[in-house]
Amino acid sequence: MRQRHLLVPTLREDPADAEIASHRLMLRAGLMRQVAAGIYTYLPLGWRVIQKVMTIIREEMNRAGAQEILMPALHPAELWQESGRWDYYGPELMRLKDRHDRDFALGPTHEEVVTALLRDEVKSYKKLPINVYQIQTKFRDERRPRFGVMRGREFIMKDAYSFDVDEEGLDKSYRAMYDAYVRIFTRCGLNFRAVEADAGAIGGTSTHEFMVLSDVGEDTLAYCTSCAYAANLEKAEVLPPQGDKPSASGTPALERVATPGVRTVEELVRHLGVTLERIIKSVLFQVDGRPVLVLVRGDHEVNEVKVKNLFAANTVEAADAETVRQVMGAPAGFIGPVNAPEAVTVVADHAVAHVTDGVVGANEADAHYVHAVPGRDFAVLRYADLRNITADDPCPRCGGTIAFAKGIEVGHVFKLGTKYSEAMGATFLDEEGKERPMIMGCYGIGVTRLVAAIIEQHHDEHGIIWPVSVAPFAVHVVPVNWKNEDQRAAAERLYAALNEAGIEALLDDRDERAGVKFKDADLIGLPLRLTVGGKVADGLVELKVRATGEQEDVPLEEAVDRVR
Ligand code: ATP
Ligand code: MG
Ligand code: MG
Ligand code: MG
Repeated sequence: MRQRHLLVPTLREDPADAEIASHRLMLRAGLMRQVAAGIYTYLPLGWRVIQKVMTIIREEMNRAGAQEILMPALHPAELWQESGRWDYYGPELMRLKDRHDRDFALGPTHEEVVTALLRDEVKSYKKLPINVYQIQTKFRDERRPRFGVMRGREFIMKDAYSFDVDEEGLDKSYRAMYDAYVRIFTRCGLNFRAVEADAGAIGGTSTHEFMVLSDVGEDTLAYCTSCAYAANLEKAEVLPPQGDKPSASGTPALERVATPGVRTVEELVRHLGVTLERIIKSVLFQVDGRPVLVLVRGDHEVNEVKVKNLFAANTVEAADAETVRQVMGAPAGFIGPVNAPEAVTVVADHAVAHVTDGVVGANEADAHYVHAVPGRDFAVLRYADLRNITADDPCPRCGGTIAFAKGIEVGHVFKLGTKYSEAMGATFLDEEGKERPMIMGCYGIGVTRLVAAIIEQHHDEHGIIWPVSVAPFAVHVVPVNWKNEDQRAAAERLYAALNEAGIEALLDDRDERAGVKFKDADLIGLPLRLTVGGKVADGLVELKVRATGEQEDVPLEEAVDRVR
């Protein structure tokens, strides 16, 4: 492409209100212009980079078995009312009315639209799993749009949604997306880390954020310097290592009783003739051959459901405390190392911790323990005591040292489970003809934010330094003096040969001073520059590598081969 008529309005000076490097450089290098707060027009160079990133994303999504679709940006309110998010989502949802006074929203994300689609079009297990994705403009009325496209109100996102018949399928779909994300961000030349972003639901950790390491990141991540543990600080919670003092001296000793056939709390109440209050809601785990009693916070709806299900099973086999934590859906660090000889770590809330003569499961079918006294028979750790991890805490996974870093969230993979399929009736018929809700996952990448994140990691005081994979052009051909016949002719020849070879080139055919051209070239940051100057009389041009500053003279005839 020729630069003379290309809309690349570079700026000499830093724009006043641009606080971070990527925002400054995206404006100065003429990649984009602001239209309103958090709303941008992408100019040719910026749009080329965005397209390169989108191509990488498409290739990796397709390779992972996802299929591309395009959903509307305009959503009828009814869909959002069905999921309950019309009320729940809050002011970030851009709402509007049509001429008939009907409510609509501009999509900030597409769970509702995609769940309705699958509900209507897929009825049988035979069609599942399905993973659909789109690359599309999203709208969020952010409270503080800032840092250019880092936090826009209109931005481009890749969002994918998986639908499976069971948790196992979801695990696979999730893993496939996780792996695709690793490939995508690696190909974009990023130094990133996947961090745990929330507690896991049954079956494992349910969400990871992909963080590009950068001081301008708005998130803080806590990570272990020895093992793979890494979590968003918001979610990196630990329990202080303390338990309650033994209490209730008058209570008889812990006693195992037979409870044949008892599978639910109600049956247990009937069988033992105790009141419901005496049942300590618990799940027993087998960790390293030792029983671990976990009491679950009673005021948490989701955990209630889980406890009900798990109570029926009475015992869960788990290899280590981390697995227990994941099965429980507890936050990172929730369950400490299991080291008491009698094996019991109790995670309790105030509602159950004061039970002094309770009934708990016995880590085997058809048996329970009575006269259980938390604090006497088990260590008690309180959910309410959870706090953010600090540098003084040991790594909750391996005991190693915890460090902190700032990160930019460029991607997010999330196990949704049946939240939307249940609310919106997205069911399928299983092999036995039974109707079941689809098990969902969702997977987002902030495409425009990703471009800014790349610049944050790839720039110097002179401008952007594009990784080859996403550069708007591979080579910048810069004749020093456009008015000089020889230089112009050589530059034109070079440019034609590069095009011929399929190498994307930008020809600076402007009649500008050399200094201006070189400054712009550094600012725009194409990976390679071929400068055509006075030495062209000797058949030489100068090849310069933007990233390293290395330069050497190469014969004009060899130039194309050298940049290939
Ligand atoms: P954040 O925590 O930064 O507000 P989010 O968790 O709300 O992001 P998600 O709902 O997970 O965002 O959306 C998927 C991806 O979309 C994010 O990982 C991020 O890369 C991108 N994204 C989210 N909000 C914005 C925004 N306002 N501008 C640009 N990209 C965004
Ligand atoms: Mg947000
Ligand atoms: Mg977030
Ligand atoms: Mg997120």
